[in-house]
Amino acid sequence: MRCPFCGLEGHHRAVHAHLVREHGDRVVMSEGKPVREGAAPVLTYEVRCPLCEFSVKRIVNPRGQDPRFLEENAAEIRLVAFDQLLYHVEAAHAAPAPEPAAQG
Ligand SMILES: [Zn+2]
Ligand SMILES: [Zn+2]
Repeated sequence: MRCPFCGLEGHHRAVHAHLVREHGDRVVMSEGKPVREGAAPVLTYEVRCPLCEFSVKRIVNPRGQDPRFLEENAAEIRLVAFDQLLYHVEAAHAAPAPEPAAQG
């Protein structure tokens, strides 16, 4: 398969490691508003597929009380985010013979 960002080719695991190493900044982590007053802020990460409009967006540990959660778990979050992105890329963009009107 190919890295969706730069086209590097390799096996799933190799591309995954490459993504984490070279494209870690593609995973955008942010803090949202708490679901209710006094609750911990909602933490999210998002990584967009560069090949289409798809994006992986997840709420991370919404009950987390640690304001530095994202910072301290950034590496692990990137692993998970790229894992999900790769599944999408394999499913949506790694067809052996892409057809022009495959979607419908
Ligand atoms: Zn790459
Ligand atoms: Zn895509």
